[in-house]
Amino acid sequence: MNQEIHRRQFLGTMASSAFLAVSGSSGKAKPESADPVPSSSPSAADQGSNGSREVRLERLHPNEIKLAMQQCPVLFQPLGTIEWHGLHNITGLDAVKAHHLCVRAALRGGGLVAPPLFGGVGGLNEPYTFVMEPEDDVHSVLVRAWVEKLCREAVRQGFKAVIILTGHYGAAQQVVIRDLAVRLSRSLGVPVLGTPEYFLALDVGYHGDHAAWGETSLMLYLDAKSVDLSRLGNPPHQGVGGRDPREATRADGERLAETIIGRLARLAQQMPKWDDDAQRRFIAAEAALVNRQMSLAASEKVIWAGWRNIGKGVFSEYGRLLVEQKFDEIVALTAKL
Ligand SMILES: [Zn+2]
Repeated sequence: MNQEIHRRQFLGTMASSAFLAVSGSSGKAKPESADPVPSSSPSAADQGSNGSREVRLERLHPNEIKLAMQQCPVLFQPLGTIEWHGLHNITGLDAVKAHHLCVRAALRGGGLVAPPLFGGVGGLNEPYTFVMEPEDDVHSVLVRAWVEKLCREAVRQGFKAVIILTGHYGAAQQVVIRDLAVRLSRSLGVPVLGTPEYFLALDVGYHGDHAAWGETSLMLYLDAKSVDLSRLGNPPHQGVGGRDPREATRADGERLAETIIGRLARLAQQMPKWDDDAQRRFIAAEAALVNRQMSLAASEKVIWAGWRNIGKGVFSEYGRLLVEQKFDEIVALTAKL
């Protein structure tokens, strides 16, 4: 039976297990915000306060870019799209969220942040949603080509690592971004990571949702003015997939966001310094992950097949293993997907 699982149904299914994971693990996994910051890095002036260092590429003069690249030659590329995110969230949530996370990570760990790209693979069949390519199209030509070219230009300008963070995550968008990152890592000779932000917060209970508890909590922490829960009304909430967003809190958003930001900052510090062996093992891990996701989707004719066990916690250690460069253990975990 080729029973298709639609994204909203799938995310709804995942939400219950995500909720269990939160209740069961709260307090165990520590947010990484407490990691020591090397003295060469900017101080913890990453709270969005006035006077913090400018890391947005498009807002910098040439000498400022040169100096920042001498300190940490990493470029963050946030991705998202324009998509309905419930009555309580803005349509640009995915890219705005990813951009906030990247800016705070760059302030903490170094690196610069490219302007966010609005336009991704897929999108809900809801109003005010720009669907650039079909929801399940792992053979993307528009998004793949554009993001690949952005990364190639980053490397041509001297960046020694690229972190592509997608805040928009249909299954195909995730596959396309991780797959192109693997291919670019091989062809460019510098590490390129392409991941949705929630993969770095699986162990603190966020398994990805759509405009539900997770995304809404993140925005309450990162961009509170963009959220208006009073517009939400009672369930069922139109175009929302996951745990009820009325349960979203700034504190939950802080826990998820700080885990993600801490890991991104550590990756920014590490990735330009990886030797050939580390790069090779990184590529092997990321390739194993995306190959597993693609092969399950192809064999089972269900695009989300590779995510079925995420809610059970089988891949929760991914973020920690990545920053600890335990790439071989990530390869082993992919068999459990
Ligand atoms: Zn979203």
